[in-house]
Amino acid sequence: MEGDADARSIWRKSRFIPATSFLVGIRCKGDFGLRGGGMTLPDVNRLFPTDARCRELLTRLRWPEGVMCPRCKDTRVSVLKDYGRFECVACEYQFTATAGTIFHDSHLPLTKWFLAVLLLVEAKKGMSAKQLQRTLGMGYKTAWYLCHRIRKAMAGAHKPMLDGTVEMDETYIGGKNRGRGPESRLDNKEIVIGIRQRGGELRFFHAEDAKSGTLAKYVKENISQDVEVIVTDDFQAYPFAFKRAGQAQSKHKKVNHSAKEYVRDEDGFCVTTNTVESAFSLLKRGIIGSWHKISAKHLQAYLAEMEFRFNRRKRSDLFIDTLRHMITADPLTFEKLTA
Ligand SMILES: [Zn+2]
Repeated sequence: MEGDADARSIWRKSRFIPATSFLVGIRCKGDFGLRGGGMTLPDVNRLFPTDARCRELLTRLRWPEGVMCPRCKDTRVSVLKDYGRFECVACEYQFTATAGTIFHDSHLPLTKWFLAVLLLVEAKKGMSAKQLQRTLGMGYKTAWYLCHRIRKAMAGAHKPMLDGTVEMDETYIGGKNRGRGPESRLDNKEIVIGIRQRGGELRFFHAEDAKSGTLAKYVKENISQDVEVIVTDDFQAYPFAFKRAGQAQSKHKKVNHSAKEYVRDEDGFCVTTNTVESAFSLLKRGIIGSWHKISAKHLQAYLAEMEFRFNRRKRSDLFIDTLRHMITADPLTFEKLTA
């Protein structure tokens, strides 16, 4: 492999890897898919045909400033003959790029991980473990495990506070009855809260209930105090929720859904929650189309996946960005998965 030869020659020149070589490597190498359009399946096959090649990218993503010993944080690291292994000069600890990460205890080749990541990030409405199993030719348990690990990494992404104009709404997933209705009809439904900044990011949450205290928590954690306008429907819990979250009532605009009003012009400002509702409809199509049956236990992880993909839908480095989250995610967050 040409890339491998490049990488080795950098390492051969000096026993110790200069910190900048990795940074330069990431910025200059267009063949890592960091410039131009998005990554396709043929691209992944061409660029990452071997585990060594995958490992090389993961090394760069995990330590953009240069390889660092996971044990003592020393950056004087030598490359062992056995490809993919490093040894710390200070404490002599030997490790690989995937040591102590979510890739570590997996017997699955990295090339399959890479394909799975691509399939998951490119499927707008999501992909079931069953589909992944068929497409990649692996056992169901492995596919399921893979899906959940990728989702968990997505859930750990940094989330800036929303400002400008923000729309907030809630929807119900599962069960047979539609609409809000009396509580007795909602027993078997799960509540999803959606918050979306116009022209900005989306947040989805699996909520325990739609009481003002619960809504206030999501407002506090996701909507900036500098927000200009918050639009909701006329659901009565919102005014209390905003008050509890310290948001001025004057910023709150309501579209009167009970009176079948969906869009209202107010001095040139569009009072509507259509922006967040369009995200809800994508979510529901995903659930119907690819998940079939969602267990309440895993709904939050699925919402995080939808949210991650939605917020990055215009980015051409979605694939690389997802891998970056995976290689830098705390593996401890994955322990509870099978519990
Ligand atoms: Zn060390």
